[in-house]
Amino acid sequence: MEPQVIENAVCPACGKKTLRTVIMEKELPHFGHAVIMTSKCSSCGYTHTDVIELEDRGHKKLRIVVDDPKRLNDLVVRSSSASLRIPEFDLEMHPGPFSNGFITTVEGVLDRFESAAKKIVPESDDERKARDEALKEIRDAKEGKKKFTLEIDDPRGVSGIISLDDEA
Ligand SMILES: [Zn+2]
Repeated sequence: MEPQVIENAVCPACGKKTLRTVIMEKELPHFGHAVIMTSKCSSCGYTHTDVIELEDRGHKKLRIVVDDPKRLNDLVVRSSSASLRIPEFDLEMHPGPFSNGFITTVEGVLDRFESAAKKIVPESDDERKARDEALKEIRDAKEGKKKFTLEIDDPRGVSGIISLDDEA
């Protein structure tokens, strides 16, 4: 497939019609054959990347122990079917019906958990307490003050964790 370009779409961040999206098929480490969508807005600088993996390699579980701030920079390749879990903080992220895969850092995963926790509207004092506690733990983890485990459960087995440190 030739790369396809969609010009002048509406930017979800600033609302101007200056979003450019490039869609291409590629062989990626871990993902294998995948479709990558990269959007960039020339007005506000918004960027977004989606990865839609096309392969199925069977159920796989991965885990990384983040006991060194350096590990926050490890790359997490999360397929659209994978769940993420941080057992120490009692956090879980399950794939929705329209979720896409993504590639981000361990810190980026914490960012996602943080923004998900911020969206929770507590219905009781207990819920508020649990949410605030989770947010505090995520912040500490991002600052490298707290050791935690990141688990990936992928029924299609294409997710991965790439340590840039080990490859150097
Ligand atoms: Zn924009």
